[in-house]
Amino acid sequence: MADWYSNFAHSGFGTTVTKQLGLPRPGVLRRYEPGGPLLEGPAVVGSAGTGRLRDTVTAVLRDAGVTVVSPVVADGDASGEKLGAVVLDATGVTGPADLAAAHDFLAPAIKRLRANGRVVILTDPPAAADSPAQAAARQAVDGLTRSIGKELRDGSTANAIYVPEGAESGVAGPLTFFLSGRSAYVDGQGVTLSAADVPATQDAAKPLAGKVVVVTGAARGIGASIADVMARDGAHVVAVDIPAAGDSLAAVANRIGGTALQLDITAADAPQRLVEHLKERHGGVDVIVHNAGITRDKLLVNMDAARWNSVMAVNLQAQLDLTEALLDGDVLNPGARVVCVSSQSGIAGNRGQTNYAASKAGVIGMVRAWAPTFAERGATINAVAPGFIVTEMTAKMPFGTREIGARLNSLQQGGLPVDVAETIAWLSQPTSAGVNGQTVRVCGQSLLGA
Ligand code: NAD
Repeated sequence: MADWYSNFAHSGFGTTVTKQLGLPRPGVLRRYEPGGPLLEGPAVVGSAGTGRLRDTVTAVLRDAGVTVVSPVVADGDASGEKLGAVVLDATGVTGPADLAAAHDFLAPAIKRLRANGRVVILTDPPAAADSPAQAAARQAVDGLTRSIGKELRDGSTANAIYVPEGAESGVAGPLTFFLSGRSAYVDGQGVTLSAADVPATQDAAKPLAGKVVVVTGAARGIGASIADVMARDGAHVVAVDIPAAGDSLAAVANRIGGTALQLDITAADAPQRLVEHLKERHGGVDVIVHNAGITRDKLLVNMDAARWNSVMAVNLQAQLDLTEALLDGDVLNPGARVVCVSSQSGIAGNRGQTNYAASKAGVIGMVRAWAPTFAERGATINAVAPGFIVTEMTAKMPFGTREIGARLNSLQQGGLPVDVAETIAWLSQPTSAGVNGQTVRVCGQSLLGA
């Protein structure tokens, strides 16, 4: 369980108190365990519009060992078999009237959703619509998904996948992610796919087998968790951190059978040293995770240049410089992945964090701008934007601020480093080839910047 409050809310006394006072009752999140089932119950698949993905979705579910049952009839009876997932294919909607079918399918089905259930809605991207009515119906899916996310309880989530014509082969990866425990803290999000050369399958147990993965800032916190998850999924991890963190860096690398590389990513020779290391030791690299980041908080009016410059250097300029060096150094293996760590602050802004929020917003702009270049190489570049994640950083916050930060989201709790790590590992997988230039929030559907 994530925290003291969740423990209390699920105790005998706490259950009574929280129910009587109407206090939040955070669900115990279902997290991914290798070898475990994709879902804890059957799935139901419905459609609104022409539903061109219905067969694809059903096949993905069946291939993953999920039982697909018939749509639930709207009889108001919630006593039937509990569902692990409700999937709506809303591709081909032409106008708002088509959405009545979405309501008719979703309402009785969601009534039967079990704890830690999943709602996934697929549609076409609004930007590519033929008419305002069609764009309206597609965009409506965004509001629908986000609202369902806010209505669900007990660890259940709702997410959307926007699938343009020609990108159908990329559906399996994101759909499986949103259904699985890997996406435990990803809620109310939408991912837009691009047409790409997507492998039909991957090793389910070790999707990153044989891959060389660089993780910056890997000595502790979220970076150490990313290193753990990447190694669990089969990768050889090159763990990078500053020389001052050398001992803990070595401990992480030893724990996972990886390599420790002491490197200050802001040093002038850092890009060249990284490229040389990868060429000499591994011949190339498959994934780089730009995770290292710092905060130097002050109100803008009191912020000295050193605070501004150091945050920009670590959080943004180093990501640009290292990525450019990997591209120019011809060291990225085919199908390479770059995953950049942004932040909810880069979307919502945050008092006292003009430098940090600017750097993290910059990461989102960088990823979007670089996506076409990476697509040309059969590679991808994406970002994750964590919300409130329980780490050493958040443990230092004053009690009240920390508690408010942790509760202001649909899942009513802070996320864990592993939740960010699982999302990054998913973006790194071969079957995520259709996800490019996206920023995926790992924030439990935080109310900040929503
Ligand atoms: P952390 O401070 O625990 O770890 C950051 C690591 O980066 C440290 O090991 C540090 O030594 C390393 N690092 C710093 N400067 C470096 C440099 N110049 N070269 C190499 N390594 C360097 O932080 P964390 O909470 O694990 O955060 C990891 C990432 O997630 C950061 O980018 C952070 O901004 C982002 N993030 C965290 C949260 C959260 O709630 N913890 C929320 C949003 C975003």
